[in-house]
Amino acid sequence: MKLFQPRTLHKRIMLAIALLQLVVVGLFAIYLLIQQVGNEITSRQVLGHKMIGITAPAVSHLIRHDPAGISGYLGAMLGDRAVAGITVKDRDGKTLFLQRKESGDLHPVAGWFKAAEPHPKISAELRSEHGSLGLMTIELSNDLLNEKIRGLLNDVSYLFMLLLGVDLIAIQLLVKSVMAPLTPLAAMAREVSQGNWEKTVLTTEDGASDEVRNLSDAFIESAKTMKRQIRELEKTRAQLAENELKLRNLVDNMQEVLLEVDQNGLVTFLNPAWEALTGYAAETTLHRPFAEFLTQPRHKAYFEAGRLEHIPLTELQLELRAHDGRPVWMQMSTSLQRDDTGAVSGLISTLEDITETLHLQELQHQHEQDLYRLTITDPLTGVYNRRHFDELLENLLHMNLHKGHPLALVIVDIDGFKFINDTYGHPVGDEVLRTVATSLRNNKHQGGAVARIAGDEFALLLQNVNEMDAERIGHMIHEDLNRIVIPLPVGQLTVQTSIGIAIAPVHGKLPQDLVRAADVALYHAKKSGRNRVDTLTRERGEAIMDIFSQGFEVRNAIIAGLILPFMQPIVDLKTRKIFAYEVLTRMRRGDAFVPADDFIPIAEDLGLIREMDLFVIGQALKMIPKNVHLFVNISLSSFYAPEFAQQLRDLLNSPVARGRSITLEFTERETVEMSREFIQLFDEIRAGSCNVALDDFGVGYSTYSYLRVLRPEFVKIDGSFVLKLKENQEDVKIVEQIRELAHIIGAHTIAEHIEDEETIAMLVKMGVDYGQGYFFSKPVNVDDKHWLTADLA
Ligand code: C2E
Ligand code: MG
Ligand code: MG
Repeated sequence: MKLFQPRTLHKRIMLAIALLQLVVVGLFAIYLLIQQVGNEITSRQVLGHKMIGITAPAVSHLIRHDPAGISGYLGAMLGDRAVAGITVKDRDGKTLFLQRKESGDLHPVAGWFKAAEPHPKISAELRSEHGSLGLMTIELSNDLLNEKIRGLLNDVSYLFMLLLGVDLIAIQLLVKSVMAPLTPLAAMAREVSQGNWEKTVLTTEDGASDEVRNLSDAFIESAKTMKRQIRELEKTRAQLAENELKLRNLVDNMQEVLLEVDQNGLVTFLNPAWEALTGYAAETTLHRPFAEFLTQPRHKAYFEAGRLEHIPLTELQLELRAHDGRPVWMQMSTSLQRDDTGAVSGLISTLEDITETLHLQELQHQHEQDLYRLTITDPLTGVYNRRHFDELLENLLHMNLHKGHPLALVIVDIDGFKFINDTYGHPVGDEVLRTVATSLRNNKHQGGAVARIAGDEFALLLQNVNEMDAERIGHMIHEDLNRIVIPLPVGQLTVQTSIGIAIAPVHGKLPQDLVRAADVALYHAKKSGRNRVDTLTRERGEAIMDIFSQGFEVRNAIIAGLILPFMQPIVDLKTRKIFAYEVLTRMRRGDAFVPADDFIPIAEDLGLIREMDLFVIGQALKMIPKNVHLFVNISLSSFYAPEFAQQLRDLLNSPVARGRSITLEFTERETVEMSREFIQLFDEIRAGSCNVALDDFGVGYSTYSYLRVLRPEFVKIDGSFVLKLKENQEDVKIVEQIRELAHIIGAHTIAEHIEDEETIAMLVKMGVDYGQGYFFSKPVNVDDKHWLTADLA
């Protein structure tokens, strides 16, 4: 078949045209042949008819006149090449003459024609004027026809060959002239194909056809376009290569991990940051499921095959396990990859290491929480502090009342805490506070917020608890607290508490009302002997509220400057000369002055006494001339406040006090423990050159040990022994004993409540040094200028 696929266009055109020519000339030759052969066949027929037409009359004549001459006549005829045989029969069918000679078969070409019979016979009736004589038949010979046909075939072949030859030459010339202009085009194409763009300038030959010229122009044009485009492509490729390099640098130097995962969750790409952050080599990670590197099942689930679609695209935080086992937190930003059908085919993500950030955030959060906790809790006990309690109370009150629920406030006060602190030291005191706080916090009876609202006071807020339940819970808490045992180096300490309970809205709807009500209940518990639980009842409330309102009056009086110092002279009983003045407090109420006895106990109960003493002493020091020796009253309980000693010291060292004689009169309505700290404070104050007087000696809580510990310069004999001295022998004995005791420790004695001359005489006789009382002067207002010049004699 290769033969029919010549390599060059030239040859192919040649071959095509030659084949076409072959067919045309062949058909033409066949046409000629058919024409000629047909003619020959027809001629033979015609010749046969002519022969029989000429010979039949002669044979008819011979039959009638010379039958013997038939053979000779017809025998000569047989000599003709066109005749193959002759038959003559008479009218009865009797053969008169029969002769045949050898004749070849009909040429195959003649066989194509219908008219060409293999052995054609032509018959003619032999006639005379008398009618039919018989039938003459001439069989025509094929030889002549065959010979003609062969001759024709030869001729046609020659003609065919000749025409073909001439045509081929003509075609050759034609094709050559057509193809000639293509040669430079082909050469240029070859140059172009070899990238030799500079040779694209082509001059077409003058003789080139329009088609070739157009082709050539189009080629040049397209070559130029191609050249331009290729240059642009080259530029783009260079740009692309540069960009790719940049991109690769970028990807390689990225701080974040660049990750590609296919739809099956297998890793298909990673940048070097991966190894830097996790310690896994990129090569060992590739083609592994990404989930293998994650620790948390819910994170792994995102990377299961077919589930990628549900992955959060931003701010997904994943925990990975680094090669060395350390957890690494990464924040992932994802772009889903989709195929032509829109199905997810994978994802490309960036992973940012946020381990440090999270750690810092956690620290910050922790720090903030710690800070917040510090601002709302009491550092010693860990329960809420007063400030937070106030907020909490306000919020819970608002919330519960809004819902129609009651809110119980339980205030727990540790009995004798000051004693514990002073006797066993602050570490034990702290331990007591901590233990009480823990017990309150852990109380199983009813949850609730616990706060330390004062030194030894805790508050508990119980939501949705009615009066009965609150009291029940209060008792249970009390029992729990009573069970607390603090081990001491020697023995152990049990804790006792007093508890006051108030309920909103029964006892108040406002925070301050509720606190005041619980305070009143607590006050009642303390007044009723401590170590008990009290809920505010109406009666209790009214009685105590009265005290509270008095306390309120006292507090206001201090603030408004309505607390005033009055003076009562202390007189040398022998010489009747004023030795000193005792400062006694009065509270102004309108035009009247309330005596100290009516408000000092309240001030002490409500913790106002410290402030008041300092205020009164300050006033007296300011108002009374420096040369006057002053006796000032101080409640020993004030020393429980650690700052009091310092405040008193500051006052005694102030310019108005300096250089003047001052005696501190100590009076105590409750027993005061002489702790080491107390004695130390006391000595410090004494060192500031002031004297000490023990007031109301012989009654109340004053004991002999006070004499020993406080070493007073003056002992004041309680007025109750003096008032009835004249009538009561026992009082005489007591006064004598007190005087003796005082003398033993080197102290002077001062008798109180001297109301008559007789008593003075008795006292002088008993050796009492000084005295004071209505006999000499009632306490007078400092503003009343007469007091200094009062004649006492
Ligand atoms: P005290 O220190 O023993 O004072 C004597 C009290 O007896 C005074 O009462 C005084 O008015 C009263 N009195 C004086 N002479 C006579 C008299 O001849 N007959 C009678 N029946 N009474 C007389 P006052 O001022 O009511 O004080 C009562 C107590 O209050 C004082 O007893 C003292 O313990 C305390 N007190 C007074 N002022 C202060 C103060 O500024 N601070 C403190 N902490 N306590 C004070
Ligand atoms: Mg006094
Ligand atoms: Mg007294």
